[in-house]
Amino acid sequence: MIDKERIEQAVREILGAIGEDPEREGLRETPARVARMYEEIFAGVGRDPAEVIKVFREDSLEEMVVVKDIPFYSICEHHLMPFFGSIHVVYIPQDNRILGLSKVARITDILSKKPQLQERLTREIGDALVKGVAPHGTAVLIEAEHLCMAMRGIRKPGAQTVTSDFRGSLRTDTSLRAEALKLIKG
Ligand SMILES: [Zn+2]
Repeated sequence: MIDKERIEQAVREILGAIGEDPEREGLRETPARVARMYEEIFAGVGRDPAEVIKVFREDSLEEMVVVKDIPFYSICEHHLMPFFGSIHVVYIPQDNRILGLSKVARITDILSKKPQLQERLTREIGDALVKGVAPHGTAVLIEAEHLCMAMRGIRKPGAQTVTSDFRGSLRTDTSLRAEALKLIKG
Protein backbone atom coordinates (compact mmCIF):
# COMPACT_ATOMS: atom_id res chain seq x y z
CA MET A 1 0.00 0.00 0.00
CA ILE A 2 1.26 3.45 -0.86
CA ASP A 3 2.12 5.69 2.11
CA LYS A 4 1.40 9.18 0.76
CA GLU A 5 2.49 10.89 3.96
CA ARG A 6 5.95 9.37 3.65
CA ILE A 7 6.23 10.30 -0.02
CA GLU A 8 5.38 13.90 0.83
CA GLN A 9 8.10 14.03 3.51
CA ALA A 10 10.61 12.46 1.13
CA VAL A 11 9.84 14.87 -1.73
CA ARG A 12 10.17 17.83 0.63
CA GLU A 13 13.52 16.37 1.68
CA ILE A 14 14.72 16.01 -1.93
CA LEU A 15 13.67 19.57 -2.78
CA GLY A 16 15.66 20.84 0.20
CA ALA A 17 18.62 18.65 -0.73
CA ILE A 18 18.90 20.10 -4.24
CA GLY A 19 19.04 23.57 -2.73
CA GLU A 20 15.42 24.57 -3.30
CA ASP A 21 13.06 26.05 -0.77
CA PRO A 22 10.21 23.55 -0.37
CA GLU A 23 8.13 26.27 1.26
CA ARG A 24 8.16 28.69 -1.65
CA GLU A 25 4.84 29.34 -3.33
CA GLY A 26 5.29 27.18 -6.44
CA LEU A 27 6.62 24.18 -4.51
CA ARG A 28 4.40 24.18 -1.44
CA GLU A 29 1.82 21.81 -2.94
CA THR A 30 4.34 19.77 -4.92
CA PRO A 31 4.97 17.01 -2.33
CA ALA A 32 1.22 16.32 -2.09
CA ARG A 33 0.85 16.36 -5.88
CA VAL A 34 3.77 13.97 -6.33
CA ALA A 35 2.31 11.64 -3.68
CA ARG A 36 -1.05 11.52 -5.52
CA MET A 37 0.75 10.96 -8.82
CA TYR A 38 2.89 8.15 -7.37
CA GLU A 39 -0.23 6.44 -6.10
CA GLU A 40 -1.39 6.27 -9.73
CA ILE A 41 1.86 5.53 -11.58
CA PHE A 42 2.98 2.91 -9.04
CA ALA A 43 -0.44 1.26 -8.74
CA GLY A 44 1.01 -2.04 -9.98
CA VAL A 45 3.39 -2.55 -7.03
CA GLY A 46 2.56 -5.85 -5.31
CA ARG A 47 -0.17 -6.74 -7.82
CA ASP A 48 -0.36 -9.95 -9.80
CA PRO A 49 -1.74 -9.72 -13.35
CA ALA A 50 -3.36 -13.13 -12.75
CA GLU A 51 -6.12 -11.22 -10.94
CA VAL A 52 -7.35 -9.71 -14.25
CA ILE A 53 -6.79 -12.67 -16.56
CA LYS A 54 -9.95 -14.26 -17.85
CA VAL A 55 -9.81 -17.16 -20.26
CA PHE A 56 -12.55 -17.99 -22.77
CA ARG A 57 -13.05 -21.14 -24.77
CA GLU A 58 -13.68 -20.73 -28.45
CA ASP A 59 -13.88 -23.74 -30.74
CA SER A 60 -11.07 -24.38 -33.22
CA LEU A 61 -9.23 -21.14 -32.58
CA GLU A 62 -5.59 -21.96 -33.13
CA GLU A 63 -4.61 -18.95 -35.23
CA MET A 64 -2.14 -16.35 -34.12
CA VAL A 65 -3.63 -13.54 -32.04
CA VAL A 66 -1.87 -10.20 -32.35
CA VAL A 67 -2.44 -7.19 -30.09
CA LYS A 68 -0.10 -4.46 -31.21
CA ASP A 69 0.73 -0.83 -30.45
CA ILE A 70 -0.44 -0.95 -26.84
CA PRO A 71 0.82 2.34 -25.43
CA PHE A 72 2.53 2.15 -22.04
CA TYR A 73 4.32 4.33 -19.50
CA SER A 74 6.63 2.91 -16.89
CA ILE A 75 9.34 4.11 -14.52
CA CYS A 76 12.92 2.94 -14.87
CA GLU A 77 14.03 1.53 -11.54
CA HIS A 78 17.61 2.74 -11.96
CA HIS A 79 16.77 6.45 -12.20
CA LEU A 80 13.04 6.74 -11.36
CA MET A 81 12.55 8.37 -14.75
CA PRO A 82 9.86 7.46 -17.27
CA PHE A 83 10.32 5.07 -20.14
CA PHE A 84 7.45 4.69 -22.55
CA GLY A 85 6.43 3.44 -25.95
CA SER A 86 4.56 0.52 -27.48
CA ILE A 87 4.02 -3.07 -26.47
CA HIS A 88 3.17 -5.75 -29.02
CA VAL A 89 1.84 -9.14 -27.95
CA VAL A 90 1.35 -12.25 -30.06
CA TYR A 91 0.17 -15.63 -28.90
CA ILE A 92 -0.99 -18.87 -30.47
CA PRO A 93 -3.90 -20.36 -28.52
CA GLN A 94 -3.81 -23.94 -27.33
CA ASP A 95 -6.86 -26.17 -26.67
CA ASN A 96 -9.17 -23.28 -27.67
CA ARG A 97 -8.15 -21.12 -24.73
CA ILE A 98 -8.16 -17.43 -25.59
CA LEU A 99 -7.74 -14.29 -23.58
CA GLY A 100 -10.21 -11.40 -23.66
CA LEU A 101 -8.51 -8.79 -25.85
CA SER A 102 -8.84 -5.99 -23.30
CA LYS A 103 -7.08 -8.25 -20.79
CA VAL A 104 -3.79 -7.99 -22.66
CA ALA A 105 -3.80 -4.24 -22.08
CA ARG A 106 -4.79 -4.76 -18.41
CA ILE A 107 -1.80 -7.09 -17.96
CA THR A 108 0.63 -4.59 -19.51
CA ASP A 109 -0.87 -1.82 -17.38
CA ILE A 110 -0.39 -3.65 -14.07
CA LEU A 111 3.15 -4.76 -14.93
CA SER A 112 4.30 -1.32 -16.13
CA LYS A 113 3.05 0.61 -13.10
CA LYS A 114 5.98 -0.04 -10.81
CA PRO A 115 9.72 0.58 -10.79
CA GLN A 116 10.68 -1.55 -13.78
CA LEU A 117 13.31 -2.51 -16.31
CA GLN A 118 12.25 -2.81 -19.93
CA GLU A 119 13.80 -6.29 -20.14
CA ARG A 120 11.94 -7.49 -17.05
CA LEU A 121 8.65 -5.94 -18.15
CA THR A 122 8.97 -7.86 -21.41
CA ARG A 123 9.63 -11.14 -19.58
CA GLU A 124 6.89 -10.58 -16.98
CA ILE A 125 4.30 -10.08 -19.74
CA GLY A 126 5.49 -13.36 -21.30
CA ASP A 127 5.24 -15.08 -17.89
CA ALA A 128 1.70 -13.76 -17.35
CA LEU A 129 0.59 -15.05 -20.76
CA VAL A 130 2.15 -18.46 -20.23
CA LYS A 131 0.64 -18.75 -16.75
CA GLY A 132 -2.70 -17.31 -17.77
CA VAL A 133 -3.58 -19.05 -21.06
CA ALA A 134 -0.89 -21.71 -21.50
CA PRO A 135 -0.59 -20.95 -25.23
CA HIS A 136 1.35 -22.84 -27.90
CA GLY A 137 3.65 -19.87 -28.12
CA THR A 138 3.96 -16.20 -27.22
CA ALA A 139 5.96 -13.24 -28.43
CA VAL A 140 6.26 -9.96 -26.59
CA LEU A 141 8.00 -6.99 -28.16
CA ILE A 142 8.55 -3.62 -26.52
CA GLU A 143 9.83 -0.48 -28.23
CA ALA A 144 10.57 2.30 -25.78
CA GLU A 145 12.28 5.59 -25.21
CA HIS A 146 13.98 6.16 -21.87
CA LEU A 147 14.07 9.69 -20.48
CA CYS A 148 17.10 8.78 -18.38
CA MET A 149 18.90 8.28 -21.72
CA ALA A 150 17.38 11.33 -23.42
CA MET A 151 17.90 13.89 -20.64
CA ARG A 152 21.22 12.91 -19.11
CA GLY A 153 24.32 10.81 -19.60
CA ILE A 154 24.70 9.95 -23.27
CA ARG A 155 21.72 12.19 -24.24
CA LYS A 156 20.15 10.40 -27.14
CA PRO A 157 16.63 11.72 -27.51
CA GLY A 158 14.43 9.56 -29.70
CA ALA A 159 16.64 6.48 -29.38
CA GLN A 160 14.46 3.39 -29.20
CA THR A 161 15.30 0.38 -27.11
CA VAL A 162 13.73 -2.83 -28.39
CA THR A 163 13.32 -5.92 -26.23
CA SER A 164 11.65 -9.23 -27.02
CA ASP A 165 10.59 -12.43 -25.35
CA PHE A 166 9.64 -15.56 -27.32
CA ARG A 167 8.17 -18.71 -25.79
CA GLY A 168 7.04 -22.13 -26.93
CA SER A 169 6.45 -22.60 -30.66
CA LEU A 170 7.21 -18.93 -31.28
CA ARG A 171 10.64 -19.54 -29.84
CA THR A 172 11.44 -22.81 -31.57
CA ASP A 173 9.73 -22.39 -34.95
CA THR A 174 11.56 -19.74 -36.99
CA SER A 175 8.84 -19.45 -39.64
CA LEU A 176 6.15 -18.84 -36.99
CA ARG A 177 8.44 -16.29 -35.39
CA ALA A 178 8.95 -14.52 -38.73
CA GLU A 179 5.19 -14.48 -39.31
CA ALA A 180 4.59 -12.95 -35.88
CA LEU A 181 7.17 -10.23 -36.50
CA LYS A 182 5.61 -9.51 -39.89
CA LEU A 183 2.17 -9.11 -38.31
CA ILE A 184 3.60 -6.74 -35.70
CA LYS A 185 5.43 -4.64 -38.28
CA GLY A 186 2.71 -4.78 -40.92
ZN1 LIG B 1 17.16 4.63 -16.31
